[in-house]
Amino acid sequence: SQDVVYRATVSPAARGYALLTFEDVTEAEQMGQMRRDFVANVSHELRTPLTAVLGFIETLRGAARDDPAARERFLAIMEREAGRMNRLIGDLLHLSRVEAQERVRPTARVDLAALVAGAISTLRPLAEGSGVAVEVTGLPAPLPMPGDADQITQVIVNLLENAIKYGGGGGHVTLHLAREALPHGSGLRLDVIDRGEGIDPLHIPRLTERFYRVDGHRSREKGGTGLGLAIVKHIVQRHRGRIRIESEPGKGSVFSVIFPES
Ligand code: ADP
Repeated sequence: SQDVVYRATVSPAARGYALLTFEDVTEAEQMGQMRRDFVANVSHELRTPLTAVLGFIETLRGAARDDPAARERFLAIMEREAGRMNRLIGDLLHLSRVEAQERVRPTARVDLAALVAGAISTLRPLAEGSGVAVEVTGLPAPLPMPGDADQITQVIVNLLENAIKYGGGGGHVTLHLAREALPHGSGLRLDVIDRGEGIDPLHIPRLTERFYRVDGHRSREKGGTGLGLAIVKHIVQRHRGRIRIESEPGKGSVFSVIFPES
């Protein structure tokens, strides 16, 4: 159902004839389009907070110059917007590093259960601040598998952070560890289960696209860059793993990652 794009070239041939060749450039064309969309998205995402900062600088120079309360308020907004740009640039660098490494198989071994425990302590302040209890169930440590410790931690942190941010309304999030068969051997699965509002099935296939958000306003409000799940996808691909997303609107969501054990 996809459009096929051809490049036609006319070149002179012998005895007054011309040669017309058609080349299928569909894939190159799609890559080019994706790159242009990405640059446009990044520019837009960076420009929005930057425009706010520039606007408030103007206001601070003018109307708010002699109003200390307004000045404080505007500085707080500028700080928040600058923080957003900083996070976005951090995530962009992260994404490009992960993409560049995608074909390099991890050589180290990690303990998935220990990394889950580490990610929980990293996010304890966010969980406590949001009134969310985090529990771990299923297989006990150690759960060894090949992996890059920093990257697997990033996957767990991104999924847990989303569960707290978007699914924390239910008051608790469960991290469940299990074993599951993969086509080539056995795998370790981590389910991140929340009892929040869930996601309409319509959105699920697109969630791991860069900058895709179900509710852009809400995501930005919560400090999201829209890159978290794209980063997860690339790290999981590098580890020859899989992602599965199941959600029931009104009940909650389960984000699962499955990694080969050997
Ligand atoms: P963001 O920075 O916006 O959080 P992500 O790539 O991490 O970006 O997530 C993409 C979108 O998926 C989010 O904006 C949110 O709409 C949706 N989402 C992710 N996790 C959940 C969840 N546990 N419950 C509901 N929606 C979620």
